[in-house]
Amino acid sequence: MIRTRLAPSPTGALHLGNARSFLLAWLWARAQGGEVVLRVEDLDGPRTKAGAVEQALADLAWLGLDWDGEVLLQSTRTEAYDQALARLQAAGRVYPCTCTRKEIEQARSAPNEGDEGPRYPGSCRGRYATGAQAEDEGGRAPAWRFRLEEGARSEFLDTVRGAEEDRPAEREGDFVIAKKSGEAAYQLAVVVDDAHQGITDVIRGDDLVPSTHLQLALYEALGLAAPRFAHLPLVRGEDGRRLAKRHGDTRVAHYRERGVSAERVVGLLAGWSGLGEPGGERAPLSAGDLLARVGSGWSWEGLPREDVVFRAADDAWLREG
Ligand code: GLU
Repeated sequence: MIRTRLAPSPTGALHLGNARSFLLAWLWARAQGGEVVLRVEDLDGPRTKAGAVEQALADLAWLGLDWDGEVLLQSTRTEAYDQALARLQAAGRVYPCTCTRKEIEQARSAPNEGDEGPRYPGSCRGRYATGAQAEDEGGRAPAWRFRLEEGARSEFLDTVRGAEEDRPAEREGDFVIAKKSGEAAYQLAVVVDDAHQGITDVIRGDDLVPSTHLQLALYEALGLAAPRFAHLPLVRGEDGRRLAKRHGDTRVAHYRERGVSAERVVGLLAGWSGLGEPGGERAPLSAGDLLARVGSGWSWEGLPREDVVFRAADDAWLREG
């Protein structure tokens, strides 16, 4: 049984790039008679925007995407994250770190393109015997970093991209899995929850490929089975940068409020994904019709491998109806 997840972060509104990942995650499961669950990644308290959870659910429903069962809020999962952290501590796979606040705060959210910091040089590796000692000597409650094996090669077979390989200890260095006071960071929470929710396929933007290598290390350390990963080419603006506010208002809610139909938005997203009209013409399409069109025979074969560019002409086409 296929099971995918939609995992919006209420730190901002759903834009066309997120919507495209969600549409494909939904379609992949539904086309194979599988399940879709919804998880709200709301651990980044300070960056969470009021009303953003409700807005994300409304946007998804408007697009015609549905999900099974209750919505899982990461903010309710503290106990599960604490247990995972305790296991990693007991196994000596993590160490306390008293490095700067900024480095550690960044770990709350999924690191989207451009968020990557420099490699962590391992300053606190082997420095403290316990969290209490770190707090005493470091003058602050420690964060916890996962110890990556030096030189180790990480490999996985991406459903879309094929063989992926990295040496995360060299690229990333030991990474934060819990912030000071033990609150889970994105990398830990996502692994604990994807395992808990029985996710078979994680479908998301390819700016998270480096994170996948870190998450695989956590699956291994926690003795959990890893899902398959499908990383999609990013949606970019005409300047080549990841779609964001600087490209104007590309929020799903913005189009909805202006009377654009959900069928236009889905039609555009489907076209970007090789699932539109033959010949690449844009045409309005509902999520249900898209599902019927792909039937149970959909594969990732037709997905264009190059990044998608959201052009002024696409925006104009959406606004036509
Ligand atoms: N909540 C994350 C985001 O919106 C998704 C992370 C993931 O799919 O693992 O970027």
